[in-house]
Amino acid sequence: MTILVLGGAGYIGSHTAYELIDKGEDVVIADNLQTGYQEAVHPKARFYKGDIRDKAFLDNLFKNEKIDAVIHFAANSLVGESMTKPLKYYDNNLYGTMVLLQSMVENSIDKIVFSSTAATYGEPENIPILESDKTEPTNTYGETKLSMEKMFKWVSKAHNLRYVSLRYFNACGAHISGEIGEAHNPESHLIPIILQVPNGKRESVSIFGDAYPTKDGTCIRDYIHVTDLAQAHILAVEYLRKGNPSNIFNLGNGIGFSVKEVIDTARKVTNHPIPAVISPRRAGDPAQLIASSEKAKSILGWRPEHADLEEIIATAWKWHKNHPDGFKK
Ligand code: UDP
Repeated sequence: MTILVLGGAGYIGSHTAYELIDKGEDVVIADNLQTGYQEAVHPKARFYKGDIRDKAFLDNLFKNEKIDAVIHFAANSLVGESMTKPLKYYDNNLYGTMVLLQSMVENSIDKIVFSSTAATYGEPENIPILESDKTEPTNTYGETKLSMEKMFKWVSKAHNLRYVSLRYFNACGAHISGEIGEAHNPESHLIPIILQVPNGKRESVSIFGDAYPTKDGTCIRDYIHVTDLAQAHILAVEYLRKGNPSNIFNLGNGIGFSVKEVIDTARKVTNHPIPAVISPRRAGDPAQLIASSEKAKSILGWRPEHADLEEIIATAWKWHKNHPDGFKK
């Protein structure tokens, strides 16, 4: 039986496809290549170029392939952009998922694992954050992901369909081979931006605010390696294959690092001074986001293997050093 990876040419999707194929799964990838890259598609996966908002495309795919489960990454995911182009996020993330669900229901596909986010929580009420904590997103991106979760909840009550929602904290790092990694255009994530300095692509990195109520005044995040995220998706498919009920899990290491600590670690890994400049805060940034992933550990049996920040940044550096311009478009 085959696993369909929607958005399998993107950052987390491509890493998940690599891990699935390593485990001997038969993989089909669909991607519209708007933010994903053909080069990131695993050579052993069957690739379909198309958009999840195109129901005929999905119906055709489900008729051509024997899909056992769907892993759904096909979405826009930039917080800043979601605030200036909210309807783009409702269209791709929410409407796209609605079309996907219509096609899955009609074609009797009954298992799906999908990307959610720590941004569903908004400003946290507790640290570490539990899945049962209140969800009040502070940006459109988080709101569309929370709405997706709710759509899955109601659709799964009415139809024969079960889901697992995975709320990622800060995805980072790259495949151990250095063949695939993170590539956004323009780049907005902290670790790739830091690594642009030793790569000669920028002079310095900006620290967005140094007067937050944290140990050194800079924002604290829970950085989780992309391969560990990929493994959680595989465990979630197994969980559904065993007949377990729909569920929601946080995915993080449960350890917080400040922006300054991340920059210091990158200096150590790259042996470059990486100048940093204090800049104004970025709108909508909570001071601290740290996951409790106890639920994923106890129910899915998930064990993150790359929790060490130095190791995480070393894998990212291996990718960026050898691909300073990312993938070819
Ligand atoms: N950040 C920063 N400078 C940058 C990019 C990000 O100081 O050039 C900070 C950002 O304010 C946040 C953290 O780094 O506190 C992680 O940001 P990123 O965009 O990587 O992920 P997010 O937490 O927004 O999902």
